[in-house]
Amino acid sequence: MLWIGFRRAIGADGGRSPAVAGRPDHGSPPVRRKLGITKPQPRVSPGDDRERTSVVAVGSVVISVDAELGWGFHDLPGPPTGRVEAGRRGWRRLLELFEDHGLPATWAVVGHLLLEECDGHHRGHPAGPGWFARERTDWRDRPELRFGRELVTAIVEDPVDHEVGSHSFSHVLFGETSREIARAELRRCRELAAAAELPFDSFVYPRNDVGHRDVLAEHGIVTYRGKTPTPEGIRAVIEGGLRGRSLLVDPHVDEYGLVNVPASLFAFGFEGTARRATERLWDDPMVRLARRGVDEAAAGDGIFHLWLHPNNLVDAADDRRMDAILAHVARRRAETELRVETMGAVGRRALASRDTAAGTTA
Ligand SMILES: [Zn+2]
Ligand SMILES: [Zn+2]
Repeated sequence: MLWIGFRRAIGADGGRSPAVAGRPDHGSPPVRRKLGITKPQPRVSPGDDRERTSVVAVGSVVISVDAELGWGFHDLPGPPTGRVEAGRRGWRRLLELFEDHGLPATWAVVGHLLLEECDGHHRGHPAGPGWFARERTDWRDRPELRFGRELVTAIVEDPVDHEVGSHSFSHVLFGETSREIARAELRRCRELAAAAELPFDSFVYPRNDVGHRDVLAEHGIVTYRGKTPTPEGIRAVIEGGLRGRSLLVDPHVDEYGLVNVPASLFAFGFEGTARRATERLWDDPMVRLARRGVDEAAAGDGIFHLWLHPNNLVDAADDRRMDAILAHVARRRAETELRVETMGAVGRRALASRDTAAGTTA
């Protein structure tokens, strides 16, 4: 396993690396026509476009979004109604918040959302009809939970240059499933991505259940989000907040040539009664923790990788939390050399850095 020191990566490449020999490069040059719709010129420039001069300690903020509508819950006996119903609201609100602050994110989208329609059987899929049962029962008349092509189009058309990645085809748990099913999921995603002219360079594992990484590599994935080395939820607040544990992560290239960009923090990992006891924004421990991660990235040379689902934005309090965090990212980007990058940009830079270090490129 080769660890890529971020400090070394800076200056080797401005985030615009050429295609790496031997690997498919679906992200370069930037795709301007996706889903058959011409993307308008960005009104806001992502942070990774900036000129970087010398090798200095500089870090990045990466934000990834698990965009799934009903698919994040379809296999659960009792899906949480509030979050299921918040999927579309949260998706639109997040897009607005990212645009307000001019911040790009990696949107990992469930492939099924790109379908126009389906009968709920998926006969060719090796997971079998039972896996798709909810489409034929409770959600038979809920197409808005099963399809979301117009929401994906909204990401592509957005003035902010977001990345569209993959969150599998039907939210299969890769750590538990067979190789055959993993292959079928990736193959279907590739077909849909090609038809929609989407890159799908980056992959986010459903429920962060990492598995079949070689299958990802076979299907042209460049980057995935690995498990967080920091504790989640209330433990994150206690350990991260009180013991001063770093929230930064380092990207590294695994044995399959994939770049792992591990998660730092789940933005809604601290919920329930403890959360409700601190409705005031300045008391929100997650805002404090996320700000600290951003500050560490601005001062150091690692990545602060925040992630969430659109359906975590259930109400105005959730919106305010994200607004406060994103405002802090934008402020630090303006004040310092901090970059705000997509997973794909980090992956391409890590591979270019590795190849430079190995002497395989000029
Ligand atoms: Zn279906
Ligand atoms: Zn998910």
